[in-house]
Amino acid sequence: ATPMSIMVSTGRGAQSGVLIKNAEALEVMEKIDIVVVDKTGTLTEGKPRLMETVSDKNFSADAILRYAASLEKGSEHPLAAAIVAGAEEKGIAPTQAENFESVTGQGVRDRIDNHLIALGNSRLMETEKIDITALRQQSESLRQQGQTVMFIAVDGQLGGLISVADPIKPSTSEALKALHESGVKVAMLTGDNQTTADAVAGKLGIDRVEAEVLPEQKSELIKQLQSEGYIVAMAGDGINDAPALAQAHVGIAMGTGADVAMESAGVTLVKGDLRGIARCRQLSRATMNNIR
Ligand code: ADP
Ligand code: MG
Repeated sequence: ATPMSIMVSTGRGAQSGVLIKNAEALEVMEKIDIVVVDKTGTLTEGKPRLMETVSDKNFSADAILRYAASLEKGSEHPLAAAIVAGAEEKGIAPTQAENFESVTGQGVRDRIDNHLIALGNSRLMETEKIDITALRQQSESLRQQGQTVMFIAVDGQLGGLISVADPIKPSTSEALKALHESGVKVAMLTGDNQTTADAVAGKLGIDRVEAEVLPEQKSELIKQLQSEGYIVAMAGDGINDAPALAQAHVGIAMGTGADVAMESAGVTLVKGDLRGIARCRQLSRATMNNIR
């Protein structure tokens, strides 16, 4: 493309909240045939809210929530913020955690009031050898509503579960519809549970779902799609997403997300509005038509 046409498109993009960092991104966008989107913070607001606290007979719901909030005070994960804020709203004060430990893609562990507490997904419970059978049905029905479930173990025994809901951004549905209408496929990539991911994907008519993906596997999945012949754009907001954003033909970061994500991406959607992807494709087509 000529420098002039690139400048014009870049300027128009910026006016509508689509920051195009390099000419390559502008050239490739029109050729994209699949957009891979991270779930939390990209399709959804990334501001989950506490929904249910279910406790085993040996504990009160408040005790479970207090352990959870005490643990999560040390975590920067959006799920942690939901739990801490939810406990606070209920007037439950967290206590001091002792040696906070975070297990990437799984959850958190610590010692609180002389009890060993673990909080996270089924994978973490497997690692900790906790039997979750007693809460399996309840967790499945919450997941079928699109909620994220975390189990809590106290001294090696299942103590309860906590669920949160992260609302889908109001603009997401229209954004995906525009991509579908122009023949672009949409895939979802998430570290969250399969049932939860399927529930969210179902609401949005997403074509392909990759759930329970560990952070380091995200860029591998992009590579795999590329080897299948796809021209891939990846949209994400998290530190976890940065390698996948860099691997994709075009990386698209949310301006509402982590700085590293933006540094790894060719395009940034200032307000995290995914309608910017279709907009960017229009600009790409206009620029390329200008030179052809
Ligand atoms: P995503 O790709 O959806 O942002 P992550 O890889 O960050 O997901 O996390 C995957 C899963 O690991 C979460 O859905 C949750 O079950 C569990 N998890 C991660 N961090 C925490 C935490 N701080 N507290 C509880 N659970 C967590
Ligand atoms: Mg995310």
